[in-house]
Amino acid sequence: MTDLRAWLPRGVEAISEWMAQFGSFEQHPSLRVDDVTLDIAFGQLTDRLQDNYPFGSPRYVGQMLKPPHDVAVLGYLTAMLINPNNHALDGGPATAAMEKEVVARLAEMFALPQHLGHLTSSGTTANLEALWVARESHPGKSIAFSADAHYTHARMCQVIGVEGVPIRADARGRMDIEALEQALATGRIGTVVATLGTTGLGALDPLPEIVDLARAHGARVHVDTAYGGFFALIADDSPDGVARAPFAAISGVDSVVVDPHKHGLQPYGCGAVLFSDPGVGRFYVHDSPYTYFSSDELHLGEISLECSRAGAAAAALWLTLEVIPLTDAGLGQALRANRRGALAWHRLLDESDALTAYQAPELDIVTYFPTRPTLSEVDAASARLFVDAAALPPDKQVHLATYSVRPAALAARGHEVVADADAGRIMRSTVMKPESADAIPEIHARLEELART
Ligand SMILES: *Cc1c(COP(=O)(O)O)cnc(C)c1O
Repeated sequence: MTDLRAWLPRGVEAISEWMAQFGSFEQHPSLRVDDVTLDIAFGQLTDRLQDNYPFGSPRYVGQMLKPPHDVAVLGYLTAMLINPNNHALDGGPATAAMEKEVVARLAEMFALPQHLGHLTSSGTTANLEALWVARESHPGKSIAFSADAHYTHARMCQVIGVEGVPIRADARGRMDIEALEQALATGRIGTVVATLGTTGLGALDPLPEIVDLARAHGARVHVDTAYGGFFALIADDSPDGVARAPFAAISGVDSVVVDPHKHGLQPYGCGAVLFSDPGVGRFYVHDSPYTYFSSDELHLGEISLECSRAGAAAAALWLTLEVIPLTDAGLGQALRANRRGALAWHRLLDESDALTAYQAPELDIVTYFPTRPTLSEVDAASARLFVDAAALPPDKQVHLATYSVRPAALAARGHEVVADADAGRIMRSTVMKPESADAIPEIHARLEELART
């Protein structure tokens, strides 16, 4: 374990030393605070922060949330003491260079032959950018995405004034290829968005087939791997890896989005978008009188929809990847542990009489529900399980999330649940911390016990 109590002062010291050469200066009286006032306010802050869920606990298996790696915190806070802005080279030459390096590593992870890309504040803004480039490349055409795609694709289509076309999902939550083919046959679709790792189920759209179909109809392909992208490191069809084919097909698409703040160990504020044709840079051309005057080199602000962005985010990711590289032996080992945890849990669910597995996990998201005869009872029991598991004593608590399903989706997966409601909640657990893998038997046993009552 990295001891932040030892490392953070080293960051503060290094930056103070560097600053000292520019001469000492006194903080303006208007900005001075006394320690007593700060002590009280800080006490309130740390108290209030306890109104939270223990995202770092192995028994937090709910939403896609976990604290950043200590190394990311160290990189972020150290760079933040300078507070560079990666909008332009003038804003922070060092972190702008780091950003280009980490983006190149992401491109390598996806085996993109060439790329133009940058970090973003989030997956949503990264996808917005890709959809905007899609619109500029294929003006007047629609954008197709799976009905199970992230909800922001429909919203961003609205923002950029493009028709969004939802494509039916199949019995495993993947884009239905026949439905896509029908939509493409209309000639209306300019871009297909494929998701590798849907936010709900972690399902992998059949990318090789999608790429072939889209190309046959002259459409672009954008891949949203905000959640699943880093699984490319272990996409080898091995027992604790994930399916190879969908990830291998990324190298042939037009754009891809991945969120280092999901599986890349980073704090929030770190997404990324990469384009395989650097020529799309032409869509960003703009001129502003107050930026870009330090050199003729490409400024990240020239290829980004956003203006100010934290250089600290690039520093954090850069430092993290120096010590936990984007390889199977590096970050891949953590992802394999997540995967083993998810698969072990799925096996336990398959044997359980109290809980039923909803579908097999393709990544590390496990879905299941208390075994009940009707959908309204499944819904009520799920809601109760969610509350009861979190209400156990702190050292036993299990934190979960729910996911809403329709009767047709249950039936498609062969579940005989009486459809007495339009929709109902089931459980959705993200096993995104390698530490959770060992806790799965304990978590499962506790949930089984609660589900029986
Ligand atoms: C999380 C997620 C997004 C949105 O990303 P943010 O970083 O939360 O804005 C988009 N697509 C998928 C598949 C996601 O999992």
